[in-house]
Amino acid sequence: MPYKDPEKRRAYQREWVAKRRTEWFDANGPCVDCGTWGNTKNKLELDHEDPSTKIAHTIWSWAKERREKELKKCVIRCHSCHMNKTIQYGRVNKRRRILGHYTSQYVGVSWDSAAGKYRAYIYKDGKQYYLGKFNLEKEAAMAYQKAKEMLYPKEE
Ligand SMILES: [Zn+2]
Repeated sequence: MPYKDPEKRRAYQREWVAKRRTEWFDANGPCVDCGTWGNTKNKLELDHEDPSTKIAHTIWSWAKERREKELKKCVIRCHSCHMNKTIQYGRVNKRRRILGHYTSQYVGVSWDSAAGKYRAYIYKDGKQYYLGKFNLEKEAAMAYQKAKEMLYPKEE
């Protein structure tokens, strides 16, 4: 390291780490889910294929061999997609801490964490009709749509 001043040395290291990180993202991006290259509000992040493994920021200062070995197990996701995936993983694993209050983007669909499936239901005259459990959120949404057409034929 060419700097004797520890403050300068840290600044140099930060810069060097940031550069290495940026280069890797440039070479390996974009987000695998939505294809974004990221921006200041939604940055690209490392996502480890094993969600229980957290990638420490220090990975960029690791020796090349060790770093590349770990980076091979990662994909790139933007912050938004990373969060979605983390929430999903939390749901599947019933990790309530991450789970929070998940509600589906679809009307009439909710996540049943005990069953690990999506539940569809519809209300009619103040009564809830249970439409079944589905592996896919979309399937549950379709079941809701079908029920809606039957129960509310005049509505769009
Ligand atoms: Zn994304």
